[in-house]
Amino acid sequence: MTSVVCAAVGAKMEEDQKENFPRAPDSGPGPDPAQLKQRCRLDGQEYPIKATPTTYIKDFSDPVYKEIAVTNGHINRMTRDELRAKLAELHLETRGVKDVLRKRLKNFYKKQKLTQTLQIKSECSDMYYDYICVIDFEATCEENNPPEYLHEIIEFPIALMNTRTLEIEDTFQEYVKPEQKPTLTEFCTKLTGITQDMVDKAGSFPDVLQRVVDWMRERELGTKCRYAVLTDGSWDMSKFLNVQCHLSRIEYPRFAKKWINIRKSYGNFYKVPRTRTKLASMLENLGMVYEGRPHCGLDDSRNIARIAIRMLQDGCELRVNECLHAGQLVNVPNNSPLESAPPPYSPWQKV
Ligand code: AMP
Ligand code: MG
Repeated sequence: MTSVVCAAVGAKMEEDQKENFPRAPDSGPGPDPAQLKQRCRLDGQEYPIKATPTTYIKDFSDPVYKEIAVTNGHINRMTRDELRAKLAELHLETRGVKDVLRKRLKNFYKKQKLTQTLQIKSECSDMYYDYICVIDFEATCEENNPPEYLHEIIEFPIALMNTRTLEIEDTFQEYVKPEQKPTLTEFCTKLTGITQDMVDKAGSFPDVLQRVVDWMRERELGTKCRYAVLTDGSWDMSKFLNVQCHLSRIEYPRFAKKWINIRKSYGNFYKVPRTRTKLASMLENLGMVYEGRPHCGLDDSRNIARIAIRMLQDGCELRVNECLHAGQLVNVPNNSPLESAPPPYSPWQKV
């Protein structure tokens, strides 16, 4: 049977333990072939493609799949030094732990063999997200927050990653004035680097969200450009944003209803347990070093984007894997159609 599959080029601590969603397999039945005809940019314009997901025709009776299995067997027996030497010879990234290097080399050969043998074109790249918006909120906190602690968002950062150039093309950052507990704890300032003065001078959450919406609209996200939101874990959206919208008495933004949880994608792709998918571990396993100040929302977002870029380069198709449905966190199966997030709208606008 032939089917089409797309394959791609205190509080937080609690979340680290809570990630217990069923793990989706690496790939599954892909989108409807008809969808492959869609253009990636809604105006039909195209970017030069450097590294994007590739379409593979999955006909397992083709001898190429046996070849791939044999190659994978060889790769499984290679030492770390052998893997690094081979990757260097192929001019590929050589940093990372053995599991990462293995996956990178396997994916390189898989893509090469399928492309050569089946003469596959990268049609799927036309429908992949043009942009990924990495969002990592910072919120009010106390040392050892109780589980029912009401976190208020105090930093709204975005790192806008172009999936064609694999660069962080733009950033947004604003601090937010908390309303329930306007005085930050010493612990919170020490953790996040956000001072009382910074939040005192900041706007309310709805005002900041309005400026986020304006910023996204200027970049034509959801209109001319396809995009998805990406976070480190589930809590940014399912907890921080959800609670904040209730506190601010505004509707939860539609554009943030579905997102890519990079921890989940990372664990599934590199086959590492969920305990090794915290930001610091993901960077370490990829042989990367954190750049900036940990727990600064924008620096966290940039570093998460660096991981996402490395994953796309290694051939992972990052796609939406979680959503908020009736206020509840829900797993999105990886055979769901790949669709852009909707255009953002004003928090005041009734839809
Ligand atoms: P992060 O994205 O890891 O910087 O964390 C986001 C938010 O989670 C922070 O702004 C804090 O509100 C909360 N948080 C993170 N780590 C801790 C911690 N060790 N203790 C209490 N709250 C934390
Ligand atoms: Mg953070």
